[in-house]
Amino acid sequence: MIVGGGLVGASLAIALDAAGLPAVLIEAAAPTVGQQPSYDERNLALARATVNGLRAIGVWDFAEDRATPITHIHTSRAGDFGSVRMNASEEGVDALGWTLPARELGAALLRRLDRCQHLTRLAPARVEGIHADDRGWAVDVVTDAGVRSLHTSLLVGADGTHSGVRRQLGIGTREHDYAQALFVTTMTPERDPRGRAFERFTDDGPVAVLPLTDRRVGVVLTVAADRVDEVAAMDDRAFAALAQERFGWRLGRLTRPGKRSPYPIRRVAAEALTSNRAVLVGNAAQTVHPIGAQGFNLGLRDALTLAELAAGATDPGAPSLLAEYAARRATDREGTMAMSHGLVRLACLDQPFLGPLRSLAMLALDRVPPLRHALSRRGMGFRANAPFAVREKTP
Ligand SMILES: Cc1cc2nc3c(=O)[nH]c(=O)nc-3n(C[C@H](O)[C@H](O)[C@H](O)COP(=O)(O)OP(=O)(O)OC[C@H]3O[C@@H](n4cnc5c(N)ncnc54)[C@H](O)[C@@H]3O)c2cc1C
Repeated sequence: MIVGGGLVGASLAIALDAAGLPAVLIEAAAPTVGQQPSYDERNLALARATVNGLRAIGVWDFAEDRATPITHIHTSRAGDFGSVRMNASEEGVDALGWTLPARELGAALLRRLDRCQHLTRLAPARVEGIHADDRGWAVDVVTDAGVRSLHTSLLVGADGTHSGVRRQLGIGTREHDYAQALFVTTMTPERDPRGRAFERFTDDGPVAVLPLTDRRVGVVLTVAADRVDEVAAMDDRAFAALAQERFGWRLGRLTRPGKRSPYPIRRVAAEALTSNRAVLVGNAAQTVHPIGAQGFNLGLRDALTLAELAAGATDPGAPSLLAEYAARRATDREGTMAMSHGLVRLACLDQPFLGPLRSLAMLALDRVPPLRHALSRRGMGFRANAPFAVREKTP
């Protein structure tokens, strides 16, 4: 039983269905793009490995024509010299990743969910309580028709950052408040980004610019928490000026910002991934700073690893399977969380002695091919112990 049909929970349900395993998916929101909280305007940078995974479970066919390939990634920091450039052709691939608005990925997931054959979907339906029983969990599910108690031998918490499943399992969290918020919007650049994605760090926080269709770009602008109201109140002109000041002029003048709303940023890491006949995936397991574009990419690897293990098992809730799941996810999870956190902290620290060190590190990463190649592989989402579905298939 999967609690939460967000981007990760829905992907897991589809992967289990593709493997012929029966499951129940319970989602609090009605199953339409306008209702699901994370099927929204945020622009997702999907790593190449993620797209391999979405292809393998039959989701990508419904999304591909809305996605924009990322052929170059350019990372720099205002005030430091040097930059790191990654390039798809150097890696022998057509794209390092793709940009796709979350609402389009959501729409593709919903279309694919409609074709599932072994899945029961309850939505809108809310899990309000869980109680251990002799075979697993009895779960109280509230729908318009009232409260039902359903049994499961494996409970999956895919219910996001504020996971109620995690809390009821008694799993604690380690948290970090970045004292920042993100504004997400689209803008029109003077110059066509031509597949280039940018990440730029500044003393005031990072900004990312992603290529989109129709010559638009997705802009993710971080601001300090105490400036959120001021930035939210800005008219288009003032917001465009702020984005320009923070991003610079690599794409010429940035104009026509679209609708924007702030997202608070908090790092939340569960202290354990599993409990008796229960497991956490996606943001319920770990919520990372969005600027590294890792959250869904990491969560999909959680989902596909769990589906892979369950597909080969007679009892998918068995303690040995859950122990194997936690072991398989440990390196990727810790490495990705540490990288996201470290990147944001180091790149944003305004310490005079750090500038030259950062510049040297960027130069080394950019100029030393093996280092750049290793970084590109990480950027494409290829990790040790990755689920089979995300690996590159060679003809
Ligand atoms: C601005 C922004 C930009 C981002 N950019 C990127 C990016 O470029 N690349 C990337 O990989 N990631 C990115 N992310 C992260 C990514 O969006 C998340 O990691 C991803 O949405 C997590 O999916 P999830 O399914 O785990 O959780 P969610 O999407 O939060 O879904 C949780 C679901 O659980 C449901 N739910 C909650 N409680 C209950 C309950 N009791 N009963 C039933 N249902 C319940 C909710 O309704 C919701 O649908 C970004 C995030 C933000 C905020």
